[in-house]
Amino acid sequence: MDSSSNSECNNSMGYSSGAAVAAAGSSSSSSSPAASSRYENQKRRDWNTFRQYLRNHRPPLELSRCSGAHVLEFLRYLDQFGKTKVHVAVCPFYGHPNPPAPCPCPLKQAWGSLDALIGRLRAAFEEDGGRSETNPFGARAVRLYLREVRDSQSKARGVSYEKKKKKKRRNLPRPQSPQQQRNT
Ligand SMILES: [Zn+2]
Repeated sequence: MDSSSNSECNNSMGYSSGAAVAAAGSSSSSSSPAASSRYENQKRRDWNTFRQYLRNHRPPLELSRCSGAHVLEFLRYLDQFGKTKVHVAVCPFYGHPNPPAPCPCPLKQAWGSLDALIGRLRAAFEEDGGRSETNPFGARAVRLYLREVRDSQSKARGVSYEKKKKKKRRNLPRPQSPQQQRNT
């Protein structure tokens, strides 16, 4: 059994499993219908979870009042369910992709999972009637946060997140590139 930090399959809450790992791992399945309906299912689950998070929020939070700051709060909240070891700077394994021994560093959500999650939630927000100009998942603060997480995890874990070849997404009904830069 491979116990690398990248096999995140049994997450009971559904993050970082399925589509997220498929996107991050970029296996051989390129544009099959199965992959696209899995994406849709994952997107619906993520959206429900986010709505649930808003309902449980103290003080209560309406979707229409949700900002990028709340999205960041949500992402940090998700870290407690993370399964990716992110070494702190003083850990002897800082920067080691395959540490030879356990260490007490925290588990977090992997950057690839968060990045894919935000892409799905951003699409779901607009499919649910939200306007793209007010899409909190497209907020600049969220983009900056993700970039920061990517850089720091890349250093801490000794992995590089190189740009993958762009997959063609011709089967999707609308373009949903997570990296659109237009609403700055
Ligand atoms: Zn460590």
